[in-house]
Amino acid sequence: MPTAMATREMTSDRKVQHSRAACRLIQPGSWVRCVHCDDTIKFVARLRHKQVVANVYQAGQWQGIEHFHERCYAESCSPYGDPTDY
Ligand SMILES: [Zn+2]
Repeated sequence: MPTAMATREMTSDRKVQHSRAACRLIQPGSWVRCVHCDDTIKFVARLRHKQVVANVYQAGQWQGIEHFHERCYAESCSPYGDPTDY
């Protein structure tokens, strides 16, 4: 049956992964680029700035990680949902 595979896909209880975002303190030595403003997300001692790290999935496939300044993430209207703190 040519439909066997599709049926198995549909009945699979494997969870489809969705993009998600998390808010973290910027770590010393961090040197990543913000995908929103294209500026470096820098650690500054004394200023406990946060960054948003997003795991990006498309159709259940992991596409990679995107980094944002916390402010930039809000400015781009939280494309991957409200970031969770951890
Ligand atoms: Zn930025």
